Amino acid sequence: MTRYVYDFIEGDRSKVDLLGGKGANLAEMTRLGLPVPPGFTVSTDACRAYLADGRPPVGLFDEVNAHLREIEVRLGRPLGDPHDPLLLAVRSGGRYSMPGMMETILDIGLNDATVAGLAARTGDERFAWDSYRRLIQMFGRTVHGVPAEYFERELAVVRTAAGPAGPDAVALRALVDTYKKVYAARVGHDFPQAPHEQLYLAIRAVFESWNAERAVLYRRREHIPDDLGTAVNVMAMVFGNLGADSGTGVAFTRDPATGEPGVYGDYLADAQGEDVVAGIRNTVPLAELERIDPASFGELVRIMSVLERHYRDLCDVEFTIERGRLWMLQTRVGKRTPAAAFTIAAQLVDEGLITIDEALHRVDGAQLTQLMFPAFDRSVAPPPLTTGVGASPGAAVGAVVFDSAAAVAADVPVILVRQETNPDDLPGMIAATGVLTARGGKTSHAAVVARGMGRTCVCGAEALRIDAGRGEFSVGDRVFRAGDVISIDGTTGAVYPGAVPVAPSPVARYLAGELTPESDRLVAAVDRLLQHADAVRRVGVRANADTPADAARARAHGAAGIGLCRTEHMFLGERRELVERLILADGPAERSDTLTALLPVQRADFVEILAAMDGLPVTVRLLDPPLHEFLPPLSDLAALVARAEALDQDPGRDATLLAAVRRMHEANPMLGLRGVRLGLVLPGLFAMQVRALAEAAAQRARDGGDPRPEIMVPLVDDVRELATVRAEIDEVLATVPDAPPIPVGTMVETPRAALTAGDLAREAHFFSFGTNDLTQTTWAFSRDDVEASFVGTYLERGILTVSPFETVDAAGVGRLVRLAVAEGRAARPDLTIGVCGEHGGDPESIAFFAEVGLDYVSCSPYRLPIARLAAGRAAARPTGDTADSR
Ligand code: PEP
Ligand code: MG
Repeated sequence: MTRYVYDFIEGDRSKVDLLGGKGANLAEMTRLGLPVPPGFTVSTDACRAYLADGRPPVGLFDEVNAHLREIEVRLGRPLGDPHDPLLLAVRSGGRYSMPGMMETILDIGLNDATVAGLAARTGDERFAWDSYRRLIQMFGRTVHGVPAEYFERELAVVRTAAGPAGPDAVALRALVDTYKKVYAARVGHDFPQAPHEQLYLAIRAVFESWNAERAVLYRRREHIPDDLGTAVNVMAMVFGNLGADSGTGVAFTRDPATGEPGVYGDYLADAQGEDVVAGIRNTVPLAELERIDPASFGELVRIMSVLERHYRDLCDVEFTIERGRLWMLQTRVGKRTPAAAFTIAAQLVDEGLITIDEALHRVDGAQLTQLMFPAFDRSVAPPPLTTGVGASPGAAVGAVVFDSAAAVAADVPVILVRQETNPDDLPGMIAATGVLTARGGKTSHAAVVARGMGRTCVCGAEALRIDAGRGEFSVGDRVFRAGDVISIDGTTGAVYPGAVPVAPSPVARYLAGELTPESDRLVAAVDRLLQHADAVRRVGVRANADTPADAARARAHGAAGIGLCRTEHMFLGERRELVERLILADGPAERSDTLTALLPVQRADFVEILAAMDGLPVTVRLLDPPLHEFLPPLSDLAALVARAEALDQDPGRDATLLAAVRRMHEANPMLGLRGVRLGLVLPGLFAMQVRALAEAAAQRARDGGDPRPEIMVPLVDDVRELATVRAEIDEVLATVPDAPPIPVGTMVETPRAALTAGDLAREAHFFSFGTNDLTQTTWAFSRDDVEASFVGTYLERGILTVSPFETVDAAGVGRLVRLAVAEGRAARPDLTIGVCGEHGGDPESIAFFAEVGLDYVSCSPYRLPIARLAAGRAAARPTGDTADSR
């Protein structure tokens, strides 16, 4: 029989799939001998079984009862005991942290009898009744979906009547009666008095919260699979709301914004666990705790250092102090900003906690991308309106909106301005470029979620007076209305009026060669990890570059050559006229004249590109797009001709062009006359390009350069296409003296090419996967249309987790890639194989290409550092645990 329940002392972090992140780490802390309240975890297996069958698996609650009894015995405090009752906290906890997305119910076990026992044990009757009313409210909302307002309304009445001292025990007792009435009216039956029944219902509610709308949305965004389910952690309650010597807090072992060492966090005295995360009241910095309760502070610092050495990474913790006694409620490898990720990884290497190989696995391409974003140019910024807590870095400029719906509906960049955020604001946070709140610290919901998704966020800007109803906020006497532009700095917490200009990031400046690694700690960390990535990676990194300027930039960013030089741009600009003449040519003689005129301009382009990449390979692709793409659009031409005719004028050349466009029109141009087909149909076109390249290389060689051109044939389906074109290429090459040997290869960008790769390899010195076209043709997804038309719906409905044009589809397209690599290499063992589709710059795809054994990836110049890092990660060995900070 499957076992569903594990005591904290039975688990460890290797069981994270079963126990969820929170459960596994509670078990880990318990094993380390840290002060964790006793408890147990109901496994994700149980949740999956529940969600599949709509009822708890057989035997689940018997197991729960058995584990519960152990806790009751250990504490000498039974559930439901009227004199000294055990109370329980029930919390969700999936494999990956989903902050605030699922449910928690505290104070399970309170009822009309046990409330007196709690009052007796704590000597605080007011507290006992307050806990009871909290339970009814949380239980009503979580188990039965009763909106919190129904309870909050009653609470507000009692609070107002009580005045500044707050309601006393009598008032709270009366409030519990009112709450019970509200509960019965909304739910249809009385609040359950049996503690075990409360517990079972709470566990079921947590299971169900896995499928709550906001949880589903969060998972989509974070690419967390929908079928994992959540575990449920049941733990003996400890109380942070028992007066001034109690409290609750959240802490990090290093600054999660910058990576600076030291203990950081927020503390809230006389409060219950969830209050800090919810950002309900303003917290004090953790350093204050040293003054308030030095013993607990010292103990916390000691525990955090134990945890950091144990996990060998930044950890965050939630803790509660109950009357001077410290309890650990949660730990995990903490979320951090991209800057902190790089800085901490380098520091941990210096501290001897991890190897440099492991450090590469602590950072990723997405983080490096964010670091390459610009920041505000503070030298020209106006004085800030106010400064809050810099909770998630970045420089965001946008129009003010006050609610999630407005953020989603906006068609300009917006800043979502809220008193505080809650999980319902998630769609707005996703849609906004920045989030600004008046309340909450670095660990509030807004901060945690924004950091996780890389949104700029400033929290706790207390000077903000927000009147969402009127659609305005004010700071002092300055008023800002919905639609007014503001700028927020997620690093410093500054809020500026208007649009502040942004300056390049230090990392971007370093990559451009403008800053040395020594100039900045973050830059030093980035440099160190990139250098290591370059040293270990087995996959080469080239650039897709079509112009000499791009080639030079690519070289500076570490490209080992050009993997794709698309020659189509050489047919644009003032050369368009020659192309038009080529298309309209009346017979071979005129065509040949036009090609002769194009030859010197192409040659000059190649000379410059070869010079910029001297000594490195430059893969030049012969012309690929359909020729009519070089002519004006049919509708424009038709309008010009119609206008001329209406004015009784001679449309002249426009009429000729219009006729040509009509003649060349294709219903599916992407599947039409393009690529190698064009070369075979239009005599002399490829020969001209080949001659231009060979002559350019010869000239560079004569000038003392080291040109390394390669010729690549696009959109090949069949080996006979390639063989025919190759014969023509070889013929031309043989006539150019002084040219170096020029390899000829093929793109593999149709399923048929991949399926017949063994044949193609006999005619090709190299392969380059064109995964843009290969994705288009494998899925039958028009690459120019589907992302706008239906990929969004597919993502929302969970049919896709990512666009196949962004991350290579390993199961389908990837299978073709694998097959082509194996059969190509079998036919020609020294075949060089690369990829030059957009996927060549996507970290996840690069890991796949490295695993398949490609020789290089080629990507746009600005993604080169990301590709270098990803290729390094693919080769570096993550010994020990790789911390999962998702
Ligand atoms: C490809 O198809 O992946 C490719 C690199 O070629 P293009 O994008 O120019 O069609
Ligand atoms: Mg292509």
